[in-house]
Amino acid sequence: MVSIETSLPIVWRSNPHGNEYERARVGRVFNARRPKRFPRAVVEATTESQVVEAVRLAIREKCRVSVRSGGHSWAAWSVRDDAILIDLGRYQHLELDEGKKAIIVSPSTTGRVLNGLLSTRGLMFAGGHCPDVGVGGFLLQGGMGWNCKNWGWACEQVVAIDAVDAWGELLHCDTEQNSDLFWAARGAGPGFPGVITKFYLRVRPAYTNVLNSLFFYPISEYRRAMDWVIKASPTFDEDTEIVAIGAVAPPETGISGHCVLLNFLTFKNDEEEAKSALLPANTGRPQGFALELTNQPSSLADQYRIQAGANPEGHRYCAENAYIKNDADVPAVMEDAFTTAPHPKAFCIWYAMAPCSRRPLPDMALSTQSDHYFALYTVWEHESDDERCQSWVSNTMRKVERHSDGAYLGDSDFQVRRTRFWADANAERLMDIRRKYDPEGRICGYLDIDDASGVKGLENRHEWMQ
Ligand SMILES: Cc1cc2nc3c(=O)[nH]c(=O)nc-3n(C[C@H](O)[C@H](O)[C@H](O)COP(=O)(O)OP(=O)(O)OC[C@H]3O[C@@H](n4cnc5c(N)ncnc54)[C@H](O)[C@@H]3O)c2cc1C
Repeated sequence: MVSIETSLPIVWRSNPHGNEYERARVGRVFNARRPKRFPRAVVEATTESQVVEAVRLAIREKCRVSVRSGGHSWAAWSVRDDAILIDLGRYQHLELDEGKKAIIVSPSTTGRVLNGLLSTRGLMFAGGHCPDVGVGGFLLQGGMGWNCKNWGWACEQVVAIDAVDAWGELLHCDTEQNSDLFWAARGAGPGFPGVITKFYLRVRPAYTNVLNSLFFYPISEYRRAMDWVIKASPTFDEDTEIVAIGAVAPPETGISGHCVLLNFLTFKNDEEEAKSALLPANTGRPQGFALELTNQPSSLADQYRIQAGANPEGHRYCAENAYIKNDADVPAVMEDAFTTAPHPKAFCIWYAMAPCSRRPLPDMALSTQSDHYFALYTVWEHESDDERCQSWVSNTMRKVERHSDGAYLGDSDFQVRRTRFWADANAERLMDIRRKYDPEGRICGYLDIDDASGVKGLENRHEWMQ
């Protein structure tokens, strides 16, 4: 619907057609645990100039701006009280420069759409694992994409952005122009002080031979399986992603109760090369598994299907995470989480980050990582389970967090847990940049308790130290 005051496609909270407002407010929010927060209006922008106009409208209305790209923030950061929410879902832009192996995309572009186009040209972008995550939120946080442990953070492939600043001006930002904003765009997460309208990305050649080896262990073998995979990962083949998953065992494994799944996914251009990459896992995995599936042919499209199945739509979610210290007894720190998930659909992961976690990062806001990424993805169906599932997440994390260097913005909720997201110097510079580019707190920023952080931003400290 088009309002009287502006030509923008806008739905006001005061709209008499309540369903229209509710659709615009949360219809594109992935987590079915809907927030009780109510924007003043939602602008469903279809062009870059409408994004500019929407920010200027917020300035005239003297209210804040919130942004939605793919709608996959677990904590629904886009939905903020009394803000003008700029929903970028209908603004779609994909411009491929094959010669330069580069692509310009609008922020609501999903991994599936991006790779759908790239794959027709033999190219790939190592974006998020879930097919429908938007590049907007994902890249701002750093982006733990496919084979992040070897290929690095997805935001390292961002060469420039276009963004509307808090005064409603469209800026091009790269290492030469507006370089502060470009620095912040790679790791500020939802505290970025502007609205990004375009990402300029480097892409990589696609892989024709994707193979998967999977080893299912009963939980009684947890320690043996984890000790081995943690030791094997840092020096494993460089095109292979490695993850350990704790969940209720699928029936075909014959395991009753929880299991540990060790999952090796290799991306190559030759079948023999892919098989030899997986050989050390196929022959070196410890005994005690209940089921092994080795060298399974796969593809990015298959992997997206698997991810979408593990993270079904229409469900309630609570995610949490920690970078466990390199010198911790990592299996011991994670054991409770791996063995006590509160719902059959819930799962947790240990995601190998070494060797990339050991190399210096480029100069950008993103600055915290360790060899061991640990995350809880608690999935359930009914509101009546909210308290039980959320308490399980908090109680489990309370024991883990003291063994951590910090956390990843992407799987965090600042209303629930306050911790460290950046190196100290990076956090200071980031908060300075936010103050410089958005002194009035026009862009909503980090959603903490009571949405109070505003221009101040986050403290970047473990909560038990405060
Ligand atoms: C099922 C699922 C799987 C996931 N898998 C991965 C994964 O493999 N790797 C990983 O790293 N993360 C993963 N995530 C986390 C995901 O990257 C974050 O939740 C991310 O915020 C989602 O981006 P979005 O654009 O879809 O979200 P949104 O909810 O649209 O955006 C989140 C916030 O980011 C900011 N933002 C977004 N776009 C812009 C913009 N254009 N300009 C300024 N600010 C903006 C806003 O503050 C916004 O509220 C997953 C999440 C889900 C739900």
